[in-house]
Amino acid sequence: MKFGFDIDDTLINLREYAFHLYNKKLNKNVQLDVFHTIKTLEIHEAFDLTAEQGSEMWNSLQDEIYFSACPPFPHAVETLQELERQGHEVYYITARDKEFGERTKKWLLENGFPVNDDRFYCGMKDPEKINIIKELDLDYYFDDKPAVLETLLDLPLQVIAKDNSYNQHLSIPRLTSWSELEAIVKQNS
Ligand SMILES: [Mg+2]
Repeated sequence: MKFGFDIDDTLINLREYAFHLYNKKLNKNVQLDVFHTIKTLEIHEAFDLTAEQGSEMWNSLQDEIYFSACPPFPHAVETLQELERQGHEVYYITARDKEFGERTKKWLLENGFPVNDDRFYCGMKDPEKINIIKELDLDYYFDDKPAVLETLLDLPLQVIAKDNSYNQHLSIPRLTSWSELEAIVKQNS
């Protein structure tokens, strides 16, 4: 089968990692329980930053956020490796800017994710993900972002939300831990 994955906040814990970096950079100590209540993808409000200051902060830290020590979610690496081992196809579909494509691939490999050059798509806008997902004829697609997930609901594939504080309002199947993937696939087959 063909499995498609968004990367940021689906396979790796990017926002929480950025949250720690914001604390460090701003010399603050905003606690993690605040993080878990943020209902938006953007995290700047927790630091009393305006949207503009928030995007400046994100852009200035982008390299560090993407390419240093952001941890994969528990079981994500092992689960994707196991899919490959079983002969399934693993695709990555990320809206990260095109300029980050090659380094993102390298980072994924260095962190143990199985990456095939022909199964890595980067640099599209969120609403354009649907075109790639259609073309690839995926069986499963996993993402965290409401604005993306909502565009996919009429497609003939299993769309699954990676559970997060900002996607609770979506009533679609969700996965809280990557250790659940095998059971989800069994249930659907
Ligand atoms: Mg994402």
